[in-house]
Amino acid sequence: MGEVAFVALGANLGDRARALADARRAIGALPGTRVVAETAVEETAPFGPPGQPPYLNQMLALDTTLAPHALLDALHGIERAAGRLRDVRWGPRTLDLDIVTFGDRQMTDDRLTVPHPGLRDRDFWQREAAELETALRG
Ligand code: ATP
Ligand code: CA
Ligand code: CA
Repeated sequence: MGEVAFVALGANLGDRARALADARRAIGALPGTRVVAETAVEETAPFGPPGQPPYLNQMLALDTTLAPHALLDALHGIERAAGRLRDVRWGPRTLDLDIVTFGDRQMTDDRLTVPHPGLRDRDFWQREAAELETALRG
């Protein structure tokens, strides 16, 4: 038994549903990690640079023995494997994986801030996180 981390998946280029499905599988196969709850996949309007296609989003609850930075590195590896080009912040991407929360930890350094600062103003993340809390308590 590790800690429970919430991870947000997003895709707004190419076969978005496929990208999310592949990411779920890859995350579930990480060492010491299993997916213990997931929200429905939903479509959301993009923010950031104008003219972007809509996102497909989903949030997963993981039980993981990985440390936060190890999880971040692993998620970046999965993004790269999905062919993500790292270019414009908030720009279009085949796959974006963000750590939303990591247990009750609060931390910030040059690579990682948890809880993710976006949780404050992204309504759909708050909704998805509440959904996962309910599922985990279930
Ligand atoms: P946002 O983080 O606002 O959703 P983004 O996902 O488009 O924007 P990226 O370009 O994917 O931003 O990531 C930029 C950097 O953010 C990453 O290289 C990573 O080191 C850092 N980062 C800091 N905190 C987190 C976190 N909680 N989850 C994922 N990445 C994070
Ligand atoms: Ca993001
Ligand atoms: Ca990101």
